[in-house]
Amino acid sequence: MFIIFGTRGLKHTVKDSPVLTNSCPSCAKGNLVNKLYRRWFTLFFIPTIPLDEIDRFYECDRCSSAYNESIKTILQQSQSEINETQKQANLKFAKALIASMTHMAIIDNDFAPEEEREIMDVMSKFPELKSELTEIYENVKVYGNKNNQVFNYLNEARSQLSSETLINILAQAAVVLLADGSIEKEEENLMKEYLIACGLPKEMYKTLIEKLKLKDMAKLKEEQLN
Ligand SMILES: [Zn+2]
Repeated sequence: MFIIFGTRGLKHTVKDSPVLTNSCPSCAKGNLVNKLYRRWFTLFFIPTIPLDEIDRFYECDRCSSAYNESIKTILQQSQSEINETQKQANLKFAKALIASMTHMAIIDNDFAPEEEREIMDVMSKFPELKSELTEIYENVKVYGNKNNQVFNYLNEARSQLSSETLINILAQAAVVLLADGSIEKEEENLMKEYLIACGLPKEMYKTLIEKLKLKDMAKLKEEQLN
């Protein structure tokens, strides 16, 4: 008889941690709930033994924005300081997203026009960062991950963003990999390398894939509506 075992990361609510009511800096109304990712040992794909904690963060129950645990201290600062921190976090988010999207788009040596359009679409959501993001895009398009530049953007983002946000960045970037309907072994390995560059264990891969499928479905729906 075969015994199938493995490990994976699962999200939990931290029960004894107070909810930060109406404090979400993104939507201003949502409550921030303390969450954590824990590594689990799985037997026949069922989580059976809880292992170590991967990361704690806060998640908005209204807009799903996720924040590093430092948000608790940041919220005690003045509004202008909160805005400044949010601006920095936004910049790190955008840089990491454009760098990894561009890298994933060129990885198969076939940079499709749809992929370029998708990257331009994301870039247009950050008009104030246009020149910085264009530079990253042009650079990664030509040099890929040379000198670890893509991984460095992810690593920088990790210092200020939550694990949840980083997984969202990777899932959004990896939608291009799902274009042919399946994930090749090399693509799986690449995504695990991205996770490690973010300072996250490779066990988060399954969480990433689940998010990726949700995003892909949302994209399909959007395309059907257009
Ligand atoms: Zn919110």
